[in-house]
Amino acid sequence: MVLMRAVLDAAFAARRKAAVSRCPARAMGVFAVATGGCEGCAVELAALRGGAWGLEGTGVVWVDAPQDADILLVVGVLTRTMAPVLERAWHAMAGPKALVALGDCAIDGGPFGETYATLGGLEGRAVTDARIPGCPPEPEAIRDILARLVT
Ligand code: SF4
Repeated sequence: MVLMRAVLDAAFAARRKAAVSRCPARAMGVFAVATGGCEGCAVELAALRGGAWGLEGTGVVWVDAPQDADILLVVGVLTRTMAPVLERAWHAMAGPKALVALGDCAIDGGPFGETYATLGGLEGRAVTDARIPGCPPEPEAIRDILARLVT
């Protein structure tokens, strides 16, 4: 158990070091909205936010209100219930602002598609600045694409 812990600590330390060495020019606030889905993407996002993937060195910061955000991160399929919430969040952002789809559901509806309860993804409904494909995408992929928007 101790050996496993040491191996994991070393791996996480290496990831943090790689992220810190990118030296971001500024910070970007990210406001995430969970719009539906199976929660798989939300779990991967929570893992990333947990600190083990060196996000703190990229310039990406999480904010609790859309008014403080530069990036609106859409997590999951767009349900009819959450669509107005997402729209309000977008209009509350001052700008310049970016829209990012996290996961296949947010991109094109993924396995849910369009139903009585869901509208599908952002594709065809909004212009996205970045897409993070996967079902779900891994934390490293989420980190790297968000970090690319900072630089
Ligand atoms: S993309 Fe996959 S993991 Fe993410 S919410 Fe949709 S079904 Fe779940």
